[in-house]
Amino acid sequence: MVFADFHGNDEVVRTLRQMLARDHFPQTVILSGPQGSGKFTLAQMVAKALNCLEQPQTDGLPDFCGLCANCVRIAEADALDDRFAEAVEARENLRDADKRETRILVQTHPDVTIIPPDPPQMLVKVDQVRHIIREIYYRPAAGRHRMYIFSEADFMKEAANSLLKILEEPPDFATIFLLTDNPSALLPTIRSRCMHLRLAPLAAETVEKYLTKARPELKPKERALVARLSAGGLGRAQTFDLAQYLAARQDALAVLGPALGENNHSDLFRVTDSYRAGAEGKAKIERAIRTLYALLEDMLFLKSGTPAFVRNTDLEPQLRKMAERVDFGWIVAAVNRLGELESGMRRNLLRTLALDAFATSLERPT
Ligand SMILES: [Zn+2]
Repeated sequence: MVFADFHGNDEVVRTLRQMLARDHFPQTVILSGPQGSGKFTLAQMVAKALNCLEQPQTDGLPDFCGLCANCVRIAEADALDDRFAEAVEARENLRDADKRETRILVQTHPDVTIIPPDPPQMLVKVDQVRHIIREIYYRPAAGRHRMYIFSEADFMKEAANSLLKILEEPPDFATIFLLTDNPSALLPTIRSRCMHLRLAPLAAETVEKYLTKARPELKPKERALVARLSAGGLGRAQTFDLAQYLAARQDALAVLGPALGENNHSDLFRVTDSYRAGAEGKAKIERAIRTLYALLEDMLFLKSGTPAFVRNTDLEPQLRKMAERVDFGWIVAAVNRLGELESGMRRNLLRTLALDAFATSLERPT
């Protein structure tokens, strides 16, 4: 893999490579973009280019070889989900006292550290930032440049304040990348100290074309749907589980059904009854909630005369009928109730009952 393998957002890639060509790479960079837009892939490419032992050039700009000892070690973290799971498991196996003090970090190369949000809250914690403060001022060990990648820059308050201290005076030989799909959630004092680059979502047609090669097992219709549903993110399209999505959507339609006169309560209760306790049930209801948002959003697009934005394109005739049965106020109220359901799930309310209550609340006149 080299820079040419990054699809789309040519401007951003060129800007980063031009900065690599100068002696001085910026110390702090916010790289924002929707989920699956390639933020982490691109940050890893920069880490490799900054530390590649071969330092090749392509099109007159710095690239990386992907084969030298530094590139290979950094690439071991390309599969971040796997490395993250290993780090979490390693912590689970520690004694209780050590467990509390251990923060999740992924480091396959001594000079490149990835800081994922720390479970179970999935936020960056102050001890993770303190770890960086302790080592960032040491010169690179095996490479030329230290790199810290916050793979999802959602900070706990104390952690954000602690990060600010580093941002005030980072060393020349280190760069901090903050990856986020929501840059406005970062403290203004952090934002003002960083260079900000944005990855735009790709056109559905581009994603569809990419999928022809990347996922040949999908039929053309499925490809078109996955391209839409992954909202312009190649990474998302690559791993999108269509069967799982369609199952969640079936449930979401059953939940909306009675309120829209589409199907009856026995369908609804059969579906909600399948949402049980435990981790599996948690993942399942999260998928159902995301899908409900997507369906309500599509109904809103159809109502407001912007069908081009509809993502569940294969359901368009049915969604159109559903949208005709309600007014804007109903959709807005449903979105708000869905927000309440979502926060209820975080407080571990009984899933079956909460879903029933949500579905029933949609039927009352708003
Ligand atoms: Zn290399």
